[in-house]
Amino acid sequence: HEPLLAVESLAVRFGGVDGGFLALEDVSFQLEAGETLSLLGESGSGKSVTAQAVMALLPGNAEISGGHIAFSGEDLVSLPRSRTRALCGTQMGMIFQDPLTALNPVFTVGDQIAELFQVRQGYGRRTAWSAAADVIDAVGIPDARHRLNAYPHQFSGGMRQRLVIAMAIALKPRLLIADEPTTALDVTVQAQIMELIGNLQRETGMALLLITHDLGVVADVTDRVAIMYAGRIVETGPVRVVYDHPAHPYTRGLMSSIPSLDESDGPLSTIPGLPPNPRDRPSGCPFHPRCSFAKPVCAVERPPMRALSGGRMAACHFAEEVVRLDPVS
Ligand code: SF4
Ligand code: MG
Repeated sequence: HEPLLAVESLAVRFGGVDGGFLALEDVSFQLEAGETLSLLGESGSGKSVTAQAVMALLPGNAEISGGHIAFSGEDLVSLPRSRTRALCGTQMGMIFQDPLTALNPVFTVGDQIAELFQVRQGYGRRTAWSAAADVIDAVGIPDARHRLNAYPHQFSGGMRQRLVIAMAIALKPRLLIADEPTTALDVTVQAQIMELIGNLQRETGMALLLITHDLGVVADVTDRVAIMYAGRIVETGPVRVVYDHPAHPYTRGLMSSIPSLDESDGPLSTIPGLPPNPRDRPSGCPFHPRCSFAKPVCAVERPPMRALSGGRMAACHFAEEVVRLDPVS
Protein backbone atom coordinates (compact mmCIF):
# COMPACT_ATOMS: atom_id res chain seq x y z
CA HIS A 1 0.00 0.00 0.00
CA GLU A 2 1.29 3.39 -1.03
CA PRO A 3 0.06 6.65 0.52
CA LEU A 4 -0.75 9.55 -1.80
CA LEU A 5 1.85 11.76 -0.11
CA ALA A 6 4.68 10.45 2.03
CA VAL A 7 7.10 12.93 3.58
CA GLU A 8 10.05 11.20 5.20
CA SER A 9 12.70 12.82 7.43
CA LEU A 10 12.45 16.06 5.47
CA ALA A 11 15.02 18.76 6.22
CA VAL A 12 15.07 22.22 4.64
CA ARG A 13 18.00 24.60 5.02
CA PHE A 14 17.90 28.35 4.46
CA GLY A 15 21.26 29.75 3.41
CA GLY A 16 22.74 33.08 4.43
CA VAL A 17 25.98 34.90 5.13
CA ASP A 18 25.70 33.90 8.78
CA GLY A 19 25.69 30.21 7.84
CA GLY A 20 21.91 29.90 7.57
CA PHE A 21 19.65 27.63 9.59
CA LEU A 22 17.47 24.56 9.37
CA ALA A 23 13.85 25.60 8.90
CA LEU A 24 12.70 21.96 8.98
CA GLU A 25 14.29 18.97 10.67
CA ASP A 26 13.20 15.37 10.46
CA VAL A 27 9.63 16.09 9.36
CA SER A 28 7.70 12.91 8.51
CA PHE A 29 4.01 12.41 7.77
CA GLN A 30 1.74 10.59 5.35
CA LEU A 31 -1.50 11.50 3.69
CA GLU A 32 -3.87 8.93 2.22
CA ALA A 33 -6.09 9.58 -0.80
CA GLY A 34 -9.18 11.51 0.29
CA GLU A 35 -7.85 12.18 3.78
CA THR A 36 -7.46 15.55 5.53
CA LEU A 37 -4.37 16.34 7.59
CA SER A 38 -3.88 19.71 9.28
CA LEU A 39 -0.46 21.13 10.08
CA LEU A 40 -0.81 23.36 13.12
CA GLY A 41 1.59 25.62 14.92
CA GLU A 42 2.64 29.16 15.60
CA SER A 43 4.02 31.39 12.90
CA GLY A 44 7.59 30.35 12.08
CA SER A 45 7.11 26.72 13.15
CA GLY A 46 7.74 25.41 9.63
CA LYS A 47 4.19 24.78 8.37
CA SER A 48 4.41 26.92 5.26
CA VAL A 49 7.95 25.76 4.49
CA THR A 50 6.63 22.18 4.52
CA ALA A 51 3.95 23.09 1.96
CA GLN A 52 6.45 25.01 -0.15
CA ALA A 53 8.82 22.03 -0.16
CA VAL A 54 6.03 19.70 -1.35
CA MET A 55 4.93 22.13 -4.08
CA ALA A 56 8.52 22.91 -5.21
CA LEU A 57 7.91 26.53 -4.23
CA LEU A 58 10.75 27.05 -1.75
CA PRO A 59 12.33 30.50 -1.97
CA GLY A 60 15.65 30.79 -3.81
CA ASN A 61 17.75 30.80 -0.64
CA ALA A 62 16.23 27.54 0.65
CA GLU A 63 16.95 23.94 -0.29
CA ILE A 64 15.88 20.47 0.70
CA SER A 65 18.92 19.22 2.59
CA GLY A 66 17.64 15.79 3.55
CA GLY A 67 14.80 13.33 3.33
CA HIS A 68 12.20 12.41 0.74
CA ILE A 69 8.83 13.58 -0.52
CA ALA A 70 6.94 10.89 -2.44
CA PHE A 71 3.77 11.73 -4.34
CA SER A 72 1.99 8.59 -5.49
CA GLY A 73 5.30 6.79 -5.19
CA GLU A 74 7.34 9.31 -7.22
CA ASP A 75 10.17 10.98 -5.29
CA LEU A 76 9.65 14.71 -5.84
CA VAL A 77 13.07 15.58 -4.40
CA SER A 78 14.96 13.77 -7.15
CA LEU A 79 12.51 14.48 -10.00
CA PRO A 80 13.51 17.02 -12.62
CA ARG A 81 11.98 20.40 -11.76
CA SER A 82 9.91 20.38 -14.96
CA ARG A 83 8.16 17.16 -13.89
CA THR A 84 7.51 18.52 -10.40
CA ARG A 85 6.06 21.69 -11.92
CA ALA A 86 3.76 19.62 -14.16
CA LEU A 87 2.55 17.58 -11.18
CA CYS A 88 2.00 20.76 -9.17
CA GLY A 89 -0.10 22.27 -11.93
CA THR A 90 -2.38 19.28 -12.39
CA GLN A 91 -2.33 16.67 -9.60
CA MET A 92 -1.61 19.07 -6.75
CA GLY A 93 -3.39 22.37 -6.21
CA MET A 94 -2.50 25.10 -3.77
CA ILE A 95 -4.57 27.81 -2.10
CA PHE A 96 -2.54 30.70 -0.78
CA GLN A 97 -3.27 32.95 2.15
CA ASP A 98 -3.65 36.13 0.14
CA PRO A 99 -6.02 35.83 -2.83
CA LEU A 100 -4.46 38.83 -4.52
CA THR A 101 -1.14 37.07 -5.04
CA ALA A 102 -2.87 34.22 -6.89
CA LEU A 103 -5.07 36.36 -9.15
CA ASN A 104 -3.85 38.59 -11.94
CA PRO A 105 -5.56 41.99 -11.69
CA VAL A 106 -5.39 42.77 -15.42
CA PHE A 107 -7.22 39.71 -16.75
CA THR A 108 -10.84 38.72 -16.29
CA VAL A 109 -11.40 35.73 -14.03
CA GLY A 110 -12.76 33.85 -17.05
CA ASP A 111 -9.49 34.37 -18.92
CA GLN A 112 -7.45 33.20 -15.94
CA ILE A 113 -9.41 30.04 -15.26
CA ALA A 114 -9.99 29.18 -18.92
CA GLU A 115 -6.25 29.51 -19.52
CA LEU A 116 -5.64 26.62 -17.12
CA PHE A 117 -7.80 24.35 -19.26
CA GLN A 118 -6.27 25.62 -22.51
CA VAL A 119 -2.63 25.36 -21.41
CA ARG A 120 -2.78 22.26 -19.22
CA GLN A 121 -5.44 20.22 -20.98
CA GLY A 122 -5.41 21.52 -24.53
CA TYR A 123 -9.06 22.62 -24.51
CA GLY A 124 -10.27 24.99 -27.23
CA ARG A 125 -11.36 28.44 -26.11
CA ARG A 126 -15.12 27.78 -26.01
CA THR A 127 -14.77 24.52 -24.11
CA ALA A 128 -12.30 26.13 -21.72
CA TRP A 129 -14.72 29.01 -20.96
CA SER A 130 -17.53 26.59 -20.39
CA ALA A 131 -15.33 24.53 -18.02
CA ALA A 132 -14.35 27.75 -16.22
CA ALA A 133 -18.00 28.63 -15.69
CA ASP A 134 -18.65 25.17 -14.23
CA VAL A 135 -15.75 25.58 -11.82
CA ILE A 136 -16.76 28.97 -10.50
CA ASP A 137 -20.30 27.71 -10.17
CA ALA A 138 -18.95 24.80 -8.11
CA VAL A 139 -17.29 27.17 -5.63
CA GLY A 140 -20.59 28.96 -5.04
CA ILE A 141 -20.15 32.15 -7.04
CA PRO A 142 -23.63 33.15 -8.19
CA ASP A 143 -24.36 33.89 -11.84
CA ALA A 144 -21.14 32.16 -12.91
CA ARG A 145 -21.42 32.62 -16.67
CA HIS A 146 -21.74 36.41 -16.42
CA ARG A 147 -19.17 36.78 -13.67
CA LEU A 148 -16.51 35.27 -15.95
CA ASN A 149 -16.17 38.67 -17.60
CA ALA A 150 -15.42 40.47 -14.33
CA TYR A 151 -11.98 41.38 -12.98
CA PRO A 152 -10.70 40.19 -9.58
CA HIS A 153 -11.15 43.62 -7.94
CA GLN A 154 -14.87 43.47 -8.73
CA PHE A 155 -15.31 40.63 -6.20
CA SER A 156 -15.47 40.83 -2.40
CA GLY A 157 -12.65 39.32 -0.31
CA GLY A 158 -14.63 36.15 0.34
CA MET A 159 -15.61 35.78 -3.33
CA ARG A 160 -11.98 36.33 -4.37
CA GLN A 161 -10.92 33.51 -2.09
CA ARG A 162 -13.58 31.35 -3.79
CA LEU A 163 -11.97 32.24 -7.13
CA VAL A 164 -8.57 31.17 -5.83
CA ILE A 165 -10.10 27.90 -4.70
CA ALA A 166 -11.69 27.52 -8.15
CA MET A 167 -8.28 27.88 -9.78
CA ALA A 168 -6.70 25.40 -7.36
CA ILE A 169 -9.33 22.71 -7.95
CA ALA A 170 -10.04 23.38 -11.65
CA LEU A 171 -7.91 20.51 -12.89
CA LYS A 172 -9.26 18.09 -10.26
CA PRO A 173 -6.05 17.64 -8.28
CA ARG A 174 -5.63 14.56 -6.10
CA LEU A 175 -4.05 16.72 -3.40
CA LEU A 176 -5.09 20.21 -2.34
CA ILE A 177 -2.79 22.22 -0.10
CA ALA A 178 -4.34 25.21 1.65
CA ASP A 179 -1.99 27.54 3.55
CA GLU A 180 -3.98 29.67 6.02
CA PRO A 181 -6.85 29.86 3.50
CA THR A 182 -9.12 31.97 5.71
CA THR A 183 -6.74 34.22 7.63
CA ALA A 184 -7.48 37.34 5.59
CA LEU A 185 -11.27 36.94 5.94
CA ASP A 186 -13.79 37.91 8.58
CA VAL A 187 -15.13 35.22 10.89
CA THR A 188 -18.44 34.57 9.10
CA VAL A 189 -16.76 34.25 5.72
CA GLN A 190 -14.04 32.04 7.25
CA ALA A 191 -16.67 29.51 8.24
CA GLN A 192 -18.23 29.58 4.76
CA ILE A 193 -14.86 29.06 3.07
CA MET A 194 -13.98 26.15 5.37
CA GLU A 195 -17.38 24.60 4.65
CA LEU A 196 -16.79 25.01 0.92
CA ILE A 197 -13.35 23.39 1.11
CA GLY A 198 -14.78 20.52 3.17
CA ASN A 199 -17.64 19.98 0.71
CA LEU A 200 -15.36 20.05 -2.33
CA GLN A 201 -13.07 17.60 -0.62
CA ARG A 202 -15.91 15.17 0.08
CA GLU A 203 -17.35 15.51 -3.44
CA THR A 204 -14.07 15.10 -5.31
CA GLY A 205 -12.27 12.70 -2.98
CA MET A 206 -9.12 14.80 -3.10
CA ALA A 207 -6.74 14.70 -0.16
CA LEU A 208 -6.35 17.92 1.77
CA LEU A 209 -3.32 19.31 3.57
CA LEU A 210 -4.49 22.27 5.65
CA ILE A 211 -2.05 24.68 7.22
CA THR A 212 -3.18 26.94 10.00
CA HIS A 213 -2.30 28.48 13.34
CA ASP A 214 -5.97 28.35 14.33
CA LEU A 215 -7.01 25.01 15.86
CA GLY A 216 -10.66 25.99 15.98
CA VAL A 217 -10.84 26.47 12.21
CA VAL A 218 -9.91 22.88 11.39
CA ALA A 219 -11.57 20.91 14.18
CA ASP A 220 -14.62 20.02 12.10
CA VAL A 221 -12.94 19.28 8.78
CA THR A 222 -9.77 17.41 9.59
CA ASP A 223 -9.16 13.68 10.14
CA ARG A 224 -5.71 14.04 11.64
CA VAL A 225 -3.52 16.84 12.93
CA ALA A 226 0.24 17.31 13.09
CA ILE A 227 1.47 19.92 15.54
CA MET A 228 4.70 21.69 14.56
CA TYR A 229 7.16 23.46 16.82
CA ALA A 230 10.58 24.89 15.93
CA GLY A 231 10.77 23.13 12.56
CA ARG A 232 9.65 19.70 13.77
CA ILE A 233 6.44 17.77 14.23
CA VAL A 234 5.99 17.31 17.98
CA GLU A 235 2.66 15.45 17.99
CA THR A 236 0.43 13.82 15.41
CA GLY A 237 -2.71 11.73 15.53
CA PRO A 238 -6.49 11.62 14.97
CA VAL A 239 -7.97 15.05 15.67
CA ARG A 240 -10.30 13.96 18.50
CA VAL A 241 -7.58 11.99 20.29
CA VAL A 242 -5.13 14.88 20.11
CA TYR A 243 -7.67 17.60 20.96
CA ASP A 244 -9.25 15.73 23.87
CA HIS A 245 -6.05 14.39 25.42
CA PRO A 246 -2.94 16.11 24.10
CA ALA A 247 0.27 14.16 24.74
CA HIS A 248 2.68 17.04 24.22
CA PRO A 249 2.76 20.03 26.57
CA TYR A 250 3.01 22.37 23.58
CA THR A 251 -0.21 20.95 22.10
CA ARG A 252 -1.83 21.35 25.49
CA GLY A 253 -0.78 24.98 25.55
CA LEU A 254 -2.22 25.56 22.07
CA MET A 255 -5.51 23.94 23.15
CA SER A 256 -5.92 26.25 26.08
CA SER A 257 -5.47 29.24 23.82
CA ILE A 258 -8.52 28.32 21.69
CA PRO A 259 -11.24 30.77 22.63
CA SER A 260 -14.16 28.80 23.95
CA LEU A 261 -17.47 29.68 22.32
CA ASP A 262 -19.48 29.52 25.53
CA GLU A 263 -17.21 31.76 27.59
CA SER A 264 -16.59 34.51 25.12
CA ASP A 265 -15.59 36.98 27.80
CA GLY A 266 -12.87 34.75 29.31
CA PRO A 267 -9.24 35.78 28.79
CA LEU A 268 -7.16 33.75 26.35
CA SER A 269 -4.43 31.83 28.05
CA THR A 270 -1.33 31.65 25.94
CA ILE A 271 1.97 29.82 26.23
CA PRO A 272 4.51 32.02 28.01
CA GLY A 273 7.67 32.94 26.15
CA LEU A 274 8.45 32.95 22.46
CA PRO A 275 9.36 30.26 19.92
CA PRO A 276 13.16 29.90 19.69
CA ASN A 277 15.32 31.70 17.15
CA PRO A 278 15.94 29.05 14.44
CA ARG A 279 19.64 29.99 14.43
CA ASP A 280 19.94 29.23 18.12
CA ARG A 281 17.55 26.49 19.16
CA PRO A 282 17.69 25.19 22.74
CA SER A 283 19.50 21.96 23.52
CA GLY A 284 17.55 18.84 24.36
CA CYS A 285 13.82 19.37 23.88
CA PRO A 286 13.44 22.62 21.89
CA PHE A 287 10.32 23.43 23.94
CA HIS A 288 11.97 23.10 27.37
CA PRO A 289 12.46 26.83 28.11
CA ARG A 290 8.67 27.35 27.77
CA CYS A 291 7.47 24.05 29.19
CA SER A 292 5.80 23.96 32.60
CA PHE A 293 6.39 20.18 32.77
CA ALA A 294 10.14 20.32 32.01
CA LYS A 295 12.53 18.28 34.15
CA PRO A 296 16.36 18.37 34.09
CA VAL A 297 16.58 15.64 31.42
CA CYS A 298 14.61 17.85 29.01
CA ALA A 299 17.47 20.35 28.64
CA VAL A 300 19.88 17.57 27.74
CA GLU A 301 18.11 14.85 25.77
CA ARG A 302 16.06 15.50 22.68
CA PRO A 303 12.85 13.45 22.93
CA PRO A 304 12.28 11.26 19.85
CA MET A 305 8.84 10.83 18.27
CA ARG A 306 7.27 7.81 19.98
CA ALA A 307 4.13 5.86 19.17
CA LEU A 308 1.48 6.11 21.90
CA SER A 309 -2.01 4.63 22.21
CA GLY A 310 -4.87 5.88 20.05
CA GLY A 311 -2.87 6.03 16.80
CA ARG A 312 -0.89 9.01 17.94
CA MET A 313 2.82 9.89 18.16
CA ALA A 314 4.48 12.53 20.28
CA ALA A 315 7.98 13.80 21.00
CA CYS A 316 7.99 14.32 24.78
CA HIS A 317 9.86 12.39 27.47
CA PHE A 318 6.76 12.53 29.67
CA ALA A 319 4.01 12.08 27.07
CA GLU A 320 2.26 9.29 29.01
CA GLU A 321 1.93 11.55 32.05
CA VAL A 322 0.73 14.50 29.99
CA VAL A 323 -2.01 12.34 28.40
CA ARG A 324 -3.30 11.41 31.86
CA LEU A 325 -3.74 15.03 32.96
CA ASP A 326 -7.23 16.44 33.27
CA PRO A 327 -8.71 17.54 29.93
CA VAL A 328 -7.92 21.08 28.85
CA SER A 329 -10.82 23.24 29.92
FE1 SF4 B 1 8.30 19.57 28.14
FE2 SF4 B 1 10.29 17.87 28.61
FE3 SF4 B 1 8.19 17.07 27.23
FE4 SF4 B 1 9.91 18.78 26.16
S1 SF4 B 1 10.31 16.65 26.72
S2 SF4 B 1 7.74 18.92 26.08
S3 SF4 B 1 10.45 20.00 27.95
S4 SF4 B 1 8.21 17.68 29.37
MG1 MG C 1 2.93 30.60 7.18
